[in-house]
Order: sequence, then C-alpha cells, then structure tokens
Amino acid sequence: MKYTLLLFFVFATSFRPPQTNVYICGSNGAKKYHYKETCRGLSSCRSETVKTSLKQAQGLRLTLCGWED
Ligand SMILES: [Zn+2]
Repeated sequence: MKYTLLLFFVFATSFRPPQTNVYICGSNGAKKYHYKETCRGLSSCRSETVKTSLKQAQGLRLTLCGWED
C-alpha cells in the first residue's frame, strides 16, 4: 500500500504536460496572452479567442496580461 502511494507520488510530480496552452484575442494584433480563457482581459476581446501554445505566444513577442496572477 505504501509502495503504491509512493509510486503515484513520483508519477504525479514527474508528469509534465507537453506544452502550456494560452489564450489570445484574435489571430493577429494581440499584444497579450492569457492563461485563463475566462480572464478579465479577454472579456473585452471583440474577436474570437484563439488557443495557442505558450511558446508560440512568446515567439510572437506577446506579454502576459496584467490581470493574471
Ligand atoms: Zn489575461
């Protein structure tokens, strides 16, 4: 039982998602990226919210939205 718990702990802490997804407003013209789709900064977005990877957002020189933690 203890061993199973330990194995689970090791698995849980070593698990990393392949990429972090972020949200941006529109496919171009966005200057900020958001971790949360429900972010306050995105509520004023008038075009559609686009899901992309954090790497891609940073590659587009987007910066983290000021409302994020
Ligand atoms: Zn935001």
